[in-house]
Amino acid sequence: MRKPIIAGNWKMNKTLAEAVDFAKEVKGAVPSNDAVDSVIGSPALFLASLAEELKGSDVKIAAQNAYWENTGAFTGENSPAAIADLGVQYVIIGHSERREYFHETDADINKKAKAIFANGMTPILCCGESLETYEAGQTAEWIEGQITAGLEGLTDEQVSNLVIAYEPIWAIGTGKSADATIADEICGVVRQTVEKIYGETVAQAVRIQYGGSVNPENIAEYMAKENVDGALVGGASLVPASFLALLEAV
Ligand code: PEP
Repeated sequence: MRKPIIAGNWKMNKTLAEAVDFAKEVKGAVPSNDAVDSVIGSPALFLASLAEELKGSDVKIAAQNAYWENTGAFTGENSPAAIADLGVQYVIIGHSERREYFHETDADINKKAKAIFANGMTPILCCGESLETYEAGQTAEWIEGQITAGLEGLTDEQVSNLVIAYEPIWAIGTGKSADATIADEICGVVRQTVEKIYGETVAQAVRIQYGGSVNPENIAEYMAKENVDGALVGGASLVPASFLALLEAV
């Protein structure tokens, strides 16, 4: 039985005061961690304050990125060791916006996954196809390629604890969510890819989220699907009432 995981991705939004106000409002109102993992994906600037505000609560924190080295001459990057030291539990990696605007490759994402695990955190590894790939009927091959490359060299135990987010690029921030049946089918492709490499036990343990224009009205349709264990949510995670409504619908 996989525990659902709902993660908000604030992207590059909010000020520090807004982030802390959000945390104050939701921390006593989220469902128990026994039932669902509730995660806020925050800009790096607010991670320390959020960790302080949410200490001991059922709300977990995700960074939206991390570098793969812990220290060194990497101006402007954020160390996974320093992120973990704050009390952050998750790091989103390979989001399509990072792949597109910051030219992150599958090899970069794989190095980040290893560094995040090495620092005791859990990667939320994003994959997803473009509209052209979707329309050409090549989604399954594309996803299989991204997942195979992203997981390269990870252990059975690491992959069992991993979270993978399937996010069709054409559904992110567009209001055009993927039909729940399609989301389930492609999350199934992710699971089958994991099974091919790691076997059934690991494939049944890995948690797979759908992401792309999820909101409180449509989340239940996705969560009802066999291969969907949660959601990665951008726009609808920015307001406390909406974030809480997503969690209540699980
Ligand atoms: C995202 O940022 O990962 C995302 C899925 O955004 P939205 O929910 O706004 O489509």
